[in-house]
Amino acid sequence: MTTSSGDTRGSATRRPRTALVVGGGVAGLTAARDLAAAGLRVTLVEASDHFGGAVGAHQVAGLVLDSGAESFATRSDAVPQLMAELGLSDRMVTPDPAGSWLCLPEGAVPAPRSGVLGIPADPTDPELRVPLGRAGTSRARLDRMLPARVGAGERTVGGLVRARMGQRVVDRLVSPFVSGVYSTHPDQLDVDAVAPGLRARMRELGSLGAAAGALRSASPAGANVAGIDGGMNLLSERLVRDAERLGVKLVTRYDVIALDRDPRRQGWMVIQRQPTNGDKTAVARGELLVVAADGPTSVRLMGSHMPDAQNYTPRSGPRIALATLVLDCPALDSAPRGTGVLVSDDVRDVRAKALTHSSAKWQWVAREAGAHRHVVRLSYGRATPRGSGPSPEVTLEDKHLISLALGDASTLFGVPIEPSQLVGADVVRWHAALPRTDAGHTARATGFRRALTGIPDAVAVGAWLSGTGLAAVVTDTRQQVARLLARHGFDAGT
Ligand SMILES: Cc1cc2nc3c(=O)[nH]c(=O)nc-3n(C[C@H](O)[C@H](O)[C@H](O)COP(=O)(O)OP(=O)(O)OC[C@H]3O[C@@H](n4cnc5c(N)ncnc54)[C@H](O)[C@@H]3O)c2cc1C
Repeated sequence: MTTSSGDTRGSATRRPRTALVVGGGVAGLTAARDLAAAGLRVTLVEASDHFGGAVGAHQVAGLVLDSGAESFATRSDAVPQLMAELGLSDRMVTPDPAGSWLCLPEGAVPAPRSGVLGIPADPTDPELRVPLGRAGTSRARLDRMLPARVGAGERTVGGLVRARMGQRVVDRLVSPFVSGVYSTHPDQLDVDAVAPGLRARMRELGSLGAAAGALRSASPAGANVAGIDGGMNLLSERLVRDAERLGVKLVTRYDVIALDRDPRRQGWMVIQRQPTNGDKTAVARGELLVVAADGPTSVRLMGSHMPDAQNYTPRSGPRIALATLVLDCPALDSAPRGTGVLVSDDVRDVRAKALTHSSAKWQWVAREAGAHRHVVRLSYGRATPRGSGPSPEVTLEDKHLISLALGDASTLFGVPIEPSQLVGADVVRWHAALPRTDAGHTARATGFRRALTGIPDAVAVGAWLSGTGLAAVVTDTRQQVARLLARHGFDAGT
């Protein structure tokens, strides 16, 4: 394999005409669309048999539901702006305001809502008395009195919250949130990766609670997430449709195994393998390159073109299994746990880490499901101690996981649910779809990006670099592609 020289021969005299995108999740699709809109002939190569990555659809009991992401953060305009370009604005919806619950060993309580990552904005809030108890609340309040430097050097969410607010806030508020959303433990979660600006705001405002409140209030009033009537999967579907309209060549089932300099002309070529067709290989070319795969794959593909690539390799993401149940269950009409439940690791009789009551959270799901029918999604893949392998539930066969989910749903709702009430079920498994943002992740991602600036005709995008979540992914992808285009003589908007 040749090494990269950052070769841009001819770029002063001629703008590139072609581009390659590797990976067809939302990052890759957005990149391909923006490159094509600038006038480039784009080829997008995706390893699996469908586009959208973690934003896709599945059918359960005749309902088309989201198989992965089901909402986006409204703290930025990035997703609404993209939706507007795709003609989806009139389908933007907000979730039911009921909020979620926490399942603690002694029972379920409404989750406090004021901060971020489960960190309370106001440690004097009487709502905290139930989950934290008297001693836990007193310790949390110390946050307001401690000098701002306490905890400022902590790199993990767990370390920071423990230093400022005490262990009980970590165990009872932050851990269920972090486990439910990121499938990891707060002590393994890089604070800068999941809450950029939190430590800086803390230094400025003097307490962690104030910083968490400031980040939360940066979202517009009301819900801090929104969704799409019909599901987030419509975003992927429309991105694909629009990319086709713009002439993007969309290729599925081609696993890119190597990226190399094109020996015959300026730019890049990908070596692909078609897993369903033996060892067949094929080559696609492009003068500009966007790598939009997961972290370990992106570093492997770009590694031979940059020094010290091994320093940037992130760990593979956690394995997650989502069991979606459609239930005929009038007892759930009152939404006894609001929009869902986050489960503390200390709860022994439930193995799910979170439950989303989708038909209580989203009106469109309730409408599609019909009277007394409920859509409930349970996620499995609790954080395990470092190196001890996947959480055992994710290795269960589908039928066993569905039985487990039925029992867990019954316990979490506090409502008996019989197998005869199950109208339909499906299990979706995700590997590597969530980046593992453990301590040091931000430094590795930043280092990779910095090293990549030495290769002027390539950029890398995706959740492992931008941070998990569609708002971050779309914002970052569009910025990176705009910079790549600007570097090669394209005006903004051309
Ligand atoms: C279960 C789940 C629920 C989520 N819920 C939410 C939510 O509610 N709200 C929210 O904002 N975010 C949510 N997220 C996160 C959000 O979906 C992701 O951050 C975002 O979709 C990531 O997009 P991406 O394009 O970077 O990565 P991906 O979607 O992972 O796409 C990467 C693509 O690259 C392809 N690829 C990998 N290697 C190769 C290769 N060698 N050759 C070719 N192609 C390759 C993969 O097949 C994949 O299609 C959720 C994620 C998961 C997994």
